[in-house]
Amino acid sequence: MQATDDLGMAPAEAARRFPCAQCGAELHYAPGTESLRCGHCGYENRIMPSTAQVQELDFHQVVAELAARESRQESIVNHCDACGAEYSFDPAIHADTCPFCGAAAVAGTTRHRHLQVNALLPFAIPAGQSRDLFRRWLQSLWFAPGKLKRYGRDDSRLTGMYVPYWTYDAATRTAYQGMRGDYYQVPETYQTVENGRTVTRTRMVTRIRWNPAAGTVTRDFDDVLVLASETLSGYLTEELEPWDLQNVRPYQEEYLSGFRSEMYQLDPAQGFDQARQIMARTITVDVARAIGGDQQQIARLDTRYGDIRCKHILLPIWVSAFRFRNKTYRFLVNGRTGEVQGERPYSPWKIVAAVIFGIVLAAVLALLFSQQGQLHY
Ligand SMILES: [Zn+2]
Ligand SMILES: [Zn+2]
Repeated sequence: MQATDDLGMAPAEAARRFPCAQCGAELHYAPGTESLRCGHCGYENRIMPSTAQVQELDFHQVVAELAARESRQESIVNHCDACGAEYSFDPAIHADTCPFCGAAAVAGTTRHRHLQVNALLPFAIPAGQSRDLFRRWLQSLWFAPGKLKRYGRDDSRLTGMYVPYWTYDAATRTAYQGMRGDYYQVPETYQTVENGRTVTRTRMVTRIRWNPAAGTVTRDFDDVLVLASETLSGYLTEELEPWDLQNVRPYQEEYLSGFRSEMYQLDPAQGFDQARQIMARTITVDVARAIGGDQQQIARLDTRYGDIRCKHILLPIWVSAFRFRNKTYRFLVNGRTGEVQGERPYSPWKIVAAVIFGIVLAAVLALLFSQQGQLHY
């Protein structure tokens, strides 16, 4: 057990190895189990369950302490010059391309100081299953270049990556000012021409009556999730949600054996800025409901955040990045649910061919119908 201080910070350490008790080869975490497995002899070694609790840290204390001193955990990491990714260095994994951007040359190692991970969700989807999902996704793509489909046969490029996230809890209290709009009906007279004569008629029209509205709403947020990686597109990772965050467990290095982990790029304060935007969306809905009526205008929101707590967690994602015509495309699999998301290139030639086919088909159908018409008349 390593000594940590009150923020859960530990001194620099090298990635731990887990040798097989039977043959000495390296044990790797077996997704979906509570065991480390030897790829050489098949020996299984149960992971000792952690007795620790998942810790949530006081946010203001974390920010103040991070600013005040340098005693964070320090790791040797891979650094990619092409996309800026920093991820755990593993001499046993010989990567010739960056798992985040597919750049050919991985530039080398650097030291990264960071806050220690509090909790994680272990991989549940094994490598083989994620490869099948990747291949099926590639096969399902319309208009994809043939070269991309062939890429799917090379399965060495799917990397099991623990991706850094922050979660935030906060008790919020929001004072609001705005206007409440209520519909009401009024009769309206109008003139129209009937049978060549101008007549006066009455109809009901809807109007809105606006009244000032002000008050306070409160809401407690739990585990607002913010991606702490800048290398993985936020849009793709958002599509991988939801995560079963209720199942996070205390960080144990065993779960990382055989996988890689990315270092966070967004610090806890930057992460909280994003969390505030996510919370604001919910608060705006709360305020609209509190104002009531048929329409609402919100002029001012003033939110106080109390009892902010945060934790640094890792979530399991199978990542494949490939470069095609100088652009990076990514394919991600949620390592818990198997949900698949990907960016994909289109083959312009296949699209042109399909459009031409469509035009020809329409012309043929039009000709057939016109001939049918001639037969009937
Ligand atoms: Zn073994
Ligand atoms: Zn890269």
